[in-house]
Amino acid sequence: MKCRKCSEKALITLRRHNASFCKEHFNEFFIKQVEKGIKEYKMFDFSDKIMVCISGGKDSLVLWYLLHKMGYETTGMYINLGIGEYSEKSLRKVEAFTEKFGLKAVIVNLTELGHPIPLLEKSVKRHACSICGIAKRYYFNKVAYENNFDVVATGHNLDDESARLLGNVLKWDPAYLSKMDPNLPEEGDYIKRKVKPLIRLTELEVGAFAFMNGIDYITDECPKSVGATSMLYKGVLNSLESDMPGTKHYFYNEFFRTVADRFRADSEEKTEMYNCAVCGMESFLETCSFCKMLEKMK
Ligand code: SF4
Ligand code: ZN
Ligand code: ZN
Repeated sequence: MKCRKCSEKALITLRRHNASFCKEHFNEFFIKQVEKGIKEYKMFDFSDKIMVCISGGKDSLVLWYLLHKMGYETTGMYINLGIGEYSEKSLRKVEAFTEKFGLKAVIVNLTELGHPIPLLEKSVKRHACSICGIAKRYYFNKVAYENNFDVVATGHNLDDESARLLGNVLKWDPAYLSKMDPNLPEEGDYIKRKVKPLIRLTELEVGAFAFMNGIDYITDECPKSVGATSMLYKGVLNSLESDMPGTKHYFYNEFFRTVADRFRADSEEKTEMYNCAVCGMESFLETCSFCKMLEKMK
């Protein structure tokens, strides 16, 4: 198979684009998709200080690598979740990455702070991923606020976001459907804008980019992901995509083209913000969900 753009041998075929590319032209395609996403959703510009949330996985490391290469002002932010060997391995990947590319990351260590995810899981008695989501959101907001970042970027890709959309549609959950935007505006003084620049790319495409560009990442799945419904939704979408290439992209994009505005309008009317009675961060509750979780540990 030949590259669509030149006569070189193609290294990857993208069925949803009906195209095959060599390394050089796949990189060109990939960067164009990221640029399109940033532009389409007006995510940030070169004057913004961007905090890139990294996990040691392919998506966040590829995102950081690219934004840095494109000339944006970026700093990485890594949370050591304290999930045994998985967290140790992912930290090593982050350290190797920052050393290789001469980058700096802010590191938050939940074990040192006294609330690693497994300990929270015992006290709160909810699925680890729901606890982890609350903790990550809390520290993303806190670190971004304390370090004066303008925007928080995460490596969510098209597979992640179309699976999340499917889950929210199956429940017809208006509050969650109003938060699907890949560019969520800042809220109050503390909560910074959140963006997802890889939204036009699939997990497979991000993995291929990492491989072709020497970005080493953790391939182990988090042990807590077993039983997470997001994996089930991803499986359903992968099976549809295999018979009907382009399904994920169509499903996700048509949501924004057709009905997303209705959910946004609904949520704007209802939003009321407080300052958390314990930590002072902005919250939709009088005591934020994170501080409530910590209280249960006492
Ligand atoms: Fe956190 Fe769940 Fe992801 Fe593990 S799988 S990192 S617990 S959200
Ligand atoms: Zn080519
Ligand atoms: Zn709080």
